[in-house]
Amino acid sequence: MRLDYLTIFPDYLAPLRLSLPGKAIESGLLEMHVHDVRDWAHDRHRTVDDTPYGGGAGMVMKPEPFGEAFDELAIDGATVIVTTPSGEPFTQALARELSTRKRLVFLLGRYEGIDQRVLDHAATRAEVREISLGDYVLNGGEVAAMAITEAVVRLLPGFMGNAESLVEESHEDGLLEYPVYTKPASWRDLEVPKVLLSGDHKRIAQWRHEQAVTRTSVRRPDLLHASQAAGLSEGERWE
Ligand code: SAM
Repeated sequence: MRLDYLTIFPDYLAPLRLSLPGKAIESGLLEMHVHDVRDWAHDRHRTVDDTPYGGGAGMVMKPEPFGEAFDELAIDGATVIVTTPSGEPFTQALARELSTRKRLVFLLGRYEGIDQRVLDHAATRAEVREISLGDYVLNGGEVAAMAITEAVVRLLPGFMGNAESLVEESHEDGLLEYPVYTKPASWRDLEVPKVLLSGDHKRIAQWRHEQAVTRTSVRRPDLLHASQAAGLSEGERWE
């Protein structure tokens, strides 16, 4: 998969080269290109923003630098992701969908956002997805792009050393994950639940499922309603 980022703060994205994504870049599974939008601004101050038509507070990112970037980077046929609080909510299902794409091009807004015509033009050449990280406002799209990137690339075949760890994770089966424990079995008078020490895999699986259902019903009942469609029984739903 190839990833391109158009930002005015390229340094912000440096951590993406650490840890597992860094290894995936080294192994050739991922290609990552971070671009400074100001490289396509031609005035002395490398201006990328201007006042909004119609008035109002703040500045808007100008279309021309993005247009030139699209041409030079040949975005045609890619999936362009525009991070915005007014986009579709980012979910595990959306991460899975995006993990099937060959190339993602992230447009990272700052100020009051990007001139709408950039998105309209991109849509004539590429798939455009406006995506929100959640119902709050960040200063810019960089953090959102990093979160989306992490969630997507860890789903690529060959990315995780142990692909099985993906299967039981929160949001994969519509449930939150059960609580997890490691050694020692006793720590500061707190004990690991006995069933986990029993070696009885059937009972352990049952306990974990019950914990996942209980945790989901307490913390995220909205998810449980969705799980109903996935075949959980009435008893399981409200245990
Ligand atoms: N005026 C915009 C609005 O009300 O929708 C908010 C602009 S915000 C200060 C600047 C940039 O941060 C946005 O263009 C977007 O790229 C990014 N951003 C802020 N909140 C976000 C969120 N919840 N999800 C994704 N991106 C976000």
